Amino acid sequence: MGLNIAMLSIHSSPIGDLGTRDTGGMSVYVREVAQVLGRLGHCIDIFTQHNPGQQDPVIDLYDNVRLIHLSGGANENIAKSELYEYLPNLLFDLKAFQNRQRVTYDVIHSHYWLSGVLGAMIQEWWHVPHFVTYHTIGVVKNRVSPTEKESEVRLANEKTLADVCDGIVVPSANEKEYLIQYYDALQDKIWVIPCGVNLERFKPMAKAAARRQLAFSNEAIIVLYVGRYSPVKGLDHLFKALSYLKHLDQLRLVLVGGDGEHSRMYEHLQSVAKGLNIQDRLVFAGRVHQKILPVYYSAADVFVVPSHYESFGLVTLEALACGTPVVATPVGAMKTIIQDGVSGYVADNLDAEHFAQLVEAIVLKQLKGVLSPAEIRASVTRLTWTRSASLLLEAYQAQSEA
Ligand code: UDP
Repeated sequence: MGLNIAMLSIHSSPIGDLGTRDTGGMSVYVREVAQVLGRLGHCIDIFTQHNPGQQDPVIDLYDNVRLIHLSGGANENIAKSELYEYLPNLLFDLKAFQNRQRVTYDVIHSHYWLSGVLGAMIQEWWHVPHFVTYHTIGVVKNRVSPTEKESEVRLANEKTLADVCDGIVVPSANEKEYLIQYYDALQDKIWVIPCGVNLERFKPMAKAAARRQLAFSNEAIIVLYVGRYSPVKGLDHLFKALSYLKHLDQLRLVLVGGDGEHSRMYEHLQSVAKGLNIQDRLVFAGRVHQKILPVYYSAADVFVVPSHYESFGLVTLEALACGTPVVATPVGAMKTIIQDGVSGYVADNLDAEHFAQLVEAIVLKQLKGVLSPAEIRASVTRLTWTRSASLLLEAYQAQSEA
C-alpha cells in the first residue's frame, strides 16, 4: 500500500530559483525524490513557506505530489534568519491544513534543520516516524567556512534533532561520520543514501555544437563552475588556483549561478579577481535554468568543485553524466563518484597550486583526446533518483515496522 509522506522543505521551495543564495541541491533533491515516489503510487505533500508571488497555496506538482505553502501569518517571505521564530505559527497553519483536508501521514521527512525543528514538533503530535536530512551540518560549516558563522541556536537544535528523530538520511559516508562525531548520533539510525542524477536531462552533446550555442570559441580552454556563490563553495580558492594557470592564455573560467551583478558576493569576487589579475579570464554567466545546464557542461573541458564543504555535490554528478571530467576538493561524495584519472581528480587537500596542477592535467588529457565522454557518463549511470527514492522507501518502511 502507498505511503502518505509529509516532506518539510520550509526555508527553500523545491520550485525556487536554483543557484541563488538559499536555493540549490536541497530543492533539486526534494523535487526529484518526490516525483519518483509519486510515480510509484505514494502520496507526497511538500510543505514550504509562503511565497507572496504565489496566489494558490496548494499546487499539484507531479502525479500524487502537492506543494503546500504555509504563511505562518506573515505577508512577506520570511528571511531564513527569522524563520526559527515563526515555526510555531507554521505548525499552526500545518495543523489547520491537515484538519481541513482530513489527511493523515505515515512518515515525516524534514529537510535542513529548520524543517527538522518543525518536524520534531509535529512528531510529538502525529506519532509517526520522523526522518531528517541535514543537507549541511552547522558545526562542520563553522569549522571550514572562512567567513560565515552558523548560530548557536542552529548547532543546539541540530544536536537535539539527532537525538529525537527516528532516522537520519545522509548522502555520503563523510556526513555519517560527522554526525556521530559532533552530535553523538547513533549509527544505527543513520541511512547513507546517495543522491542521484536525472540522466534524461543531463546527457552529453557534441562540444563544438554546445560552444556554438553559447558563443564560446572553439580554441578556448573552458573551466566551468556551477553553483551558489556562497563562501563555503571556495570560489576564492578557485580564483587563486587560476592565478597559477596564467600561462594557459586561452583558459577561461565560466561561472554559472549566483544572485546577479548587484549582489555583495559578486562584488567581492570581482575584487578578488582584480587582486589576482585574472579578471579578463572570467565569464560570469549568471543563473542558468537547469534545462540549459547540459549545454554548459558539454561545452566545458573541465568542471571544477573547489568547495570547502559539500554534503554531496549534485553538480559533480550532472557534469559527469554529461561526459565532462571533474576536478574537486576532497569533500562530500567526491572520492566515491570521481574515478581517478578516468573521470577527473580529487585533490588531496585545499592547496590552490595543487588544485591548479590537477586542472592542468585534465586540460592536457583533453588536448590529447584521451578522455572518453561515454566512459565518464557510464561511471555514474547507476546513480539515479529512482535508486535514491527506492532506498528512501526501504528506510521509511523499516522504521514504520520497527
Ligand atoms: N543550479 C541550476 N542553475 C544554476 C546553478 C545551480 O540549476 O544557475 C542547480 C544545479 O543543477 C544543481 C543545484 O543547483 O542541481 C546545486 O546543487 P549542489 O548539490 O551542487 O549544491 P548546493 O546548492 O546543494 O550547495
